[in-house]
Amino acid sequence: MGRIKSGLAALLFLAATAEARLKTPNLPKIEACMAPVGPTLHLSLPEATQIMAVAGFDLQWHSYKDCPAGAIRVTLEHELTYKHTAEAIGWSFPFEGIHVGISLGIIESVGLDTGRHLLACAIAHEIGHLLEGTTSHSAWGLMKASWTTFDLESIRNLQMRFDQPDIELMQKGYPAWSDRAGFTPGR
Ligand SMILES: [Zn+2]
Repeated sequence: MGRIKSGLAALLFLAATAEARLKTPNLPKIEACMAPVGPTLHLSLPEATQIMAVAGFDLQWHSYKDCPAGAIRVTLEHELTYKHTAEAIGWSFPFEGIHVGISLGIIESVGLDTGRHLLACAIAHEIGHLLEGTTSHSAWGLMKASWTTFDLESIRNLQMRFDQPDIELMQKGYPAWSDRAGFTPGR
């Protein structure tokens, strides 16, 4: 039963990824890697790809052990390596451009069905920092400094998106991020 379930999740993941790629043939490419997670949280990856596609980017996932140079490396951590508050969901280094950590404890604390959407949003938020090249936050949308239970409702309903000014900052910051991360688009 467990095997069938995880096989199905993998199939859905591949199908969703293929679909996301078909829709985003000419968008600026972002490569990222995450160590294996369970079948439910795995669904966060194509969901993060969809969120980034709406913002105008083609987020492509690779396995952690075959992670290309310059790709973003996302780690799920039981205890966050870096955090400012006990409620911190994640961290990233905007000036370094590669490493992202997300709190597995907080993702699991809301239950995996909501947690997978929260993980997709947390990944997109940290990628937002990397592309914008700053630790700044916004009043609205995915780049808010903290999310409330009201936001959790939008996250669960797949309505949490980047605010337009953040989309513009990310697109403006993309070339500099590519240089920092050592990633050459088109190669
Ligand atoms: Zn942040």
